[in-house]
Amino acid sequence: LPILLHSFLYRKAAASTNVPTFLLVGPSGGGKTAFTTLAERNTTTQTHTSTAPLTVSALLPSPHIPASSHFRAPGDPQFERSRRFLLLDTPGHGKLRHFATSQLADPKDVRAILFVVDAAGIAEEAGLNEAAEYLHDVLLSLQHRYTRAKSSKGPKDIPVLVAANKMDLFTALPANLVKIQLEKAITEVRSRRAKALRDAGAALAGNEDEVDEEKEWLGEGGEGAFEFSQMREIGTTVDVVGGNVVSGKDVGDVGAWWAWLAEQL
Ligand code: GDP
Repeated sequence: LPILLHSFLYRKAAASTNVPTFLLVGPSGGGKTAFTTLAERNTTTQTHTSTAPLTVSALLPSPHIPASSHFRAPGDPQFERSRRFLLLDTPGHGKLRHFATSQLADPKDVRAILFVVDAAGIAEEAGLNEAAEYLHDVLLSLQHRYTRAKSSKGPKDIPVLVAANKMDLFTALPANLVKIQLEKAITEVRSRRAKALRDAGAALAGNEDEVDEEKEWLGEGGEGAFEFSQMREIGTTVDVVGGNVVSGKDVGDVGAWWAWLAEQL
């Protein structure tokens, strides 16, 4: 029995070392680095450059409670462990985005994705288009992962939080408008991409490398508008939630993001 017990405990300990990873993506300037710094302040401090991906370990701050620990008492070691997570910050700069996309191509350890975006930047067309293109590609990667899955059960669900940051700025769009604007802009990205594929396809007619347009179409087919709710079919819920990581020299308020993270833990 002691041997059995030992191996049971050992296996339990080994399993609990799989700390969930949250992937942080989004255009540069959105506030990813600021959020990473805020999150890691709960644990250790590390220096950080934004040209390479960086993993920091963090703790869900109280009073937020991981969804998996609602029935546990504070002080229970499993309760404390369940508050741990890893934050994988990726460079948002266009040329460095392969760090993020390579993670998305094989996201088996990724519990959820945080897409951080400057809600004031989105009020301008250029900022909106950049964010929409990036988010479109993130969601399309998740859709590919789902449609290419071999098992009939489908891969593990990966939810996405669109963290609409910089709500302290008076030019920031409120979260509900960030959602509407992104959905509209993604609808346009989708049409532009389809047209580009059709043009390329016409040029390549008869070529075996022809791209399957349907597989590159995000969400539902047809002429309708893109909506985040269409992603539920591929196991991805998308929530748009406002927050602000910093305001001037003060610490901001990202309580609603922590609450969302708590639901994934
Ligand atoms: P990243 O490129 O996504 O990593 O963005 P950073 O974290 O480097 O942030 C870009 C700039 O936005 C920095 O100057 C931050 O101080 C600033 N910033 C981040 N969060 C907020 C916020 O909530 N409000 C305001 N006003 N500025 C912010």
